Amino acid sequence: MKKNILFLGPPGAGKGTQASIISECFSYLHLSTGELLRQEVENKTNLGAQVVDIMNSGQLVNDALVLEIVKKNLSLTNNGWILDGYPRNLSQANSLDEVLQSINQPLEIVFNLSVEDDILVSRLLNRGRKDDNEQTIRTRLKIYKETTAPLINYFKGMNILDDIQGDRDLKTISKEIKQKMAS
Ligand code: ADP
Repeated sequence: MKKNILFLGPPGAGKGTQASIISECFSYLHLSTGELLRQEVENKTNLGAQVVDIMNSGQLVNDALVLEIVKKNLSLTNNGWILDGYPRNLSQANSLDEVLQSINQPLEIVFNLSVEDDILVSRLLNRGRKDDNEQTIRTRLKIYKETTAPLINYFKGMNILDDIQGDRDLKTISKEIKQKMAS
């Protein structure tokens, strides 16, 4: 059985990139809440219309709404998933815990990617997604520090956190992640 994985870290740390590499390599279901929300916006769904302004301003989308998306997608597999971008606050972490207990699929490893602020900002400005402008980036980093970073201690308390230095070459990082997955 594959270990269920979560990527934690600030915007621009490389969560999505590493989650894609690892999920492709080991055939995991890759569940990125940011990506799923962007698809809703792109497909011009009702949900997309509700979240587009919030996302473009760098704020967090409503917990209940994101939880529905997560539940729906987690039910698509019982053969390993990688979560990226969820949970982002303590309330989402508690909801996730409940959902995972009810489907009997525990979270087994949390990779915490860390990268310095100035590197994050330059990476995001280079990426140039719609929500990657200076003002929005500042908002996202602030929200990360205030509401998401406390989850590091939450998962440390569960004894499943692994710190990964994210300011290195992509391949070096995925190699380290694969080693840690196997140990
Ligand atoms: P990044 O890793 O650069 O922050 P994401 O693709 O993970 O980018 O998220 C983009 C945006 O989608 C966030 O700024 C937020 O508005 C929304 N979002 C994604 N995941 C969540 C979540 N778990 N809870 C609330 N909002 C979310």
